Amino acid sequence: MIETNEALAVRGGPKAVTAAAPANWLHGTSEIGEEEIRAVTAVLRSQVLFRHAGDPANSPVAHFEALFAQMTGARHVLAVNSGTSALIAGLIALEVGHGDEVLVPAYTYIATAAAVLAVGALPVLVEVDASLSIDPGDMERKVTDRTAAVIPVHMRGVPCDMHRVMAVARRHRIAVLEDCAQANGGTYGGRHLGTLGDAGIFSFQHYKIAACGEGGALITDDRRVFERAAVYHDSAYAFWMEEQAQKTNTPEAVEQWKRTCFLGENFRQSELHGAVALEQLRKRDRLLARTRAIKARLWPACEAIPSAAMETLNDREGDCGISLVFFMPDADSAVRICDWLKAEGVRCGTVFSKAFPDRHIFYHWDYVMNKRSAFRNGAPWSLERQPPRVRYSRDMCPATVGLLERAVMLPITQKMTDPYVDQVCGAIEKVARGWRD
Ligand SMILES: *Cc1c(COP(=O)(O)O)cnc(C)c1O
Repeated sequence: MIETNEALAVRGGPKAVTAAAPANWLHGTSEIGEEEIRAVTAVLRSQVLFRHAGDPANSPVAHFEALFAQMTGARHVLAVNSGTSALIAGLIALEVGHGDEVLVPAYTYIATAAAVLAVGALPVLVEVDASLSIDPGDMERKVTDRTAAVIPVHMRGVPCDMHRVMAVARRHRIAVLEDCAQANGGTYGGRHLGTLGDAGIFSFQHYKIAACGEGGALITDDRRVFERAAVYHDSAYAFWMEEQAQKTNTPEAVEQWKRTCFLGENFRQSELHGAVALEQLRKRDRLLARTRAIKARLWPACEAIPSAAMETLNDREGDCGISLVFFMPDADSAVRICDWLKAEGVRCGTVFSKAFPDRHIFYHWDYVMNKRSAFRNGAPWSLERQPPRVRYSRDMCPATVGLLERAVMLPITQKMTDPYVDQVCGAIEKVARGWRD
């Protein structure tokens, strides 16, 4: 029964969403409040910005690591200054070497591939499936005798098919570094993301679920992996540890750190960032409870759209709920239904376009596609074993482009009010009733 006020907004009818949209769609960043301000102020008043300068018992970075260990269930946590540096330290820790191949999904933030290149290894692109994360079948097809590791990326808060990813990785004896930069708080089979593989990394950058400006963390249960990452994250790490061991009068630890020491960088986290990251972690689960509840309400509305196919959720309970994706039969209908939804006041977008350089899609990773190096000798591509076989082209992952072209994505934030969510659901249902392919 079509009511008279059913005229679609795209055809000049009334707009379904009139309630105010959130002013800020970011997750952690839009939760910044008095807690973060107080924590940063306390660090500034203390005049201690470096974790090894003061008493470790008072270090916000150390407190952040301890809370994150508790929240993830991981045995070891290392705070660093970005998700990218956590990836680099993680690859070094897992002994990924020059010229090794590392499997990377074709849909991920470009930093995942950049980190592989930074350690002298070569990213090999793997198709994604309808969860928009790594396709375990294609992952297995891309394994060679040079594959050292895989980086499954839990994109937009949706867990990868970790059961199959781990089975393929174990079968071929390759290391697994989970990129959880967009999935802080997500779980798979009841376990926190980042604890299923050999190590996991997180980002606390401005756009992430918990944000501290620039920040990251590496988690692992493996003591040796933790130590290697820690040593690499600070060119003087073993010296700080020796100093600490001397203070606590543990001569065997002094000797152990002397042996463990190798070259490193400076990926350290400052106390200012640690203080913000700590407060943000305390807010994380409340935030995710809200995004998950909103996604559960948007889901049936989207499911009712004729010919829309919902995204695959590899673990429904473990999904962070920060986005919702459905697929239309072709790219044109995805663009068209997006226009209809947007006209009603629904925030949504298509994902792939040749014209818009989205840095989350391999197609737009110019320096990877063209093997453009920072070094005169062309490394790491020039370090490839003979005969070279890693090649890149824009048509190399057609399944990924095909899915992304047909995808319609709705961002979800905890700041969507109930009246707003009600109206967004109503708008989607209205479009669903009027939709003809
Ligand atoms: C943000 C992000 C990174 C990089 O994190 P930074 O903190 O910006 O260095 C890596 N991988 C994915 C999937 C990301 O979204």
